[in-house]
Amino acid sequence: MANKHRVLYLESAPSVGGSVISLYELLRGLDRTRYEPIVVTYTRHEYVEKFRALGVEVHAWDVYRAQDHRPAWIRPIRTSRPMQWLRRSVWGSKIYYNVGFSLFLVRRVWPLVQALRQVIIQREVSLVHTNTLINHDRAGILAAKLTGRPCVCHIRDFDTLNWFDRRLAEMADQLIYISEIVQRRYMEAGVPCHKGRVIYNGLDVEAFVSLLDREKGRRSFNLTPSDLAVGIVGRLEPWKGQEVFLKAMALLLEMVPNVKGIVVGDPPPYRPEYRQVLQSLSDSLGLSDRIFFSAFRADVPVVMSALDVVVLASVSPEPFGRVLIEAMAAGKPVVATNSGAAPEIIEDGVHGFLIPPADAGAMARAIAYLLTHPDEAAAMGQRGRNRVQTQFHLKQYLEGVQAVYESLLSEEAV
Ligand code: UDP
Repeated sequence: MANKHRVLYLESAPSVGGSVISLYELLRGLDRTRYEPIVVTYTRHEYVEKFRALGVEVHAWDVYRAQDHRPAWIRPIRTSRPMQWLRRSVWGSKIYYNVGFSLFLVRRVWPLVQALRQVIIQREVSLVHTNTLINHDRAGILAAKLTGRPCVCHIRDFDTLNWFDRRLAEMADQLIYISEIVQRRYMEAGVPCHKGRVIYNGLDVEAFVSLLDREKGRRSFNLTPSDLAVGIVGRLEPWKGQEVFLKAMALLLEMVPNVKGIVVGDPPPYRPEYRQVLQSLSDSLGLSDRIFFSAFRADVPVVMSALDVVVLASVSPEPFGRVLIEAMAAGKPVVATNSGAAPEIIEDGVHGFLIPPADAGAMARAIAYLLTHPDEAAAMGQRGRNRVQTQFHLKQYLEGVQAVYESLLSEEAV
């Protein structure tokens, strides 16, 4: 291990999404002559085996389930009259919050810190890389600092930082933000700007393109040769805007009758009923034979290649929106809501269209334009692929992250 460093990755996302997949890409491309990765996941999701297939040591824990049970005596205290009264007053609510938060740190965070410290010491870890956001990664930062290891915090989502989290952000040696908008929000919350830099997520464009298979994708969605296909790919959650997408599809059908909508993804474990909610909405809009719902697909390049237009409908800001760079790498024009990181990735009218969030009419009109102007749509798709090649390629992501490791490890060596 003289010149090789063990890096401990902490993956705390509750289900598979952009953060887990972006970590997978990092592990796949990591310089293994220089770094030996070990991963701890806080849930046993589908990507655990994929990480292992890369030859990575993975400790798949079940942190959230283990933490789920609160002692029975807490509820009556929380709902008691004096507590209700305390929570209603300004000072009382502060006391209530801080006592609750301190108990949370002692009961939940501290045992995890101890478990992570053991891994760091026993496996002789040189550097800790947390992969989600400060308030999911408190234990990882504390464990790194208590064992004297440098800590890189990859900030992959917006976060509400309390006083403790701001302190943790200062303790981290380096923050990596996945977009400028995430960095801006952190700085607005009081995190010093010298602590962080933006490194966009990356995609191995050549590998992705080699997996495109339009015919296979279209067959999997039962599309006929005359069907045009518009798709939305991602977790089924209210903030991802699938409801707006369905409403837009109802309007779009009046303009482009031979269009079908494809909704791909699973609801998260904490909202299992949401697929049914969307299916009922689709039925009530009279779209039962025009919308195809698909469970989570592991072959996203095949999915993307089947589509004529890809939609990102999120009604809350996306911290990055990995599906955007995947759609662009597949050469597809995109219609995305104009918030979060989408305007950093897509130029309106160049790679697709940016539309206001929660505006089904604007979404339907933008999609209709692309479907009825196929040459322009193809040119936008091509420009999108070029943009991913130059701005969001895996190379810039890998080089950026490894440069951070190098600078921290060389500081340690001095
Ligand atoms: N994804 C997938 N299969 C699906 C749905 C989504 O592999 O059925 C992937 C998608 O390709 C993307 C990720 O999940 O890589 C979603 O990332 P994004 O940043 O768009 O959203 P997040 O999940 O992070 O909110």
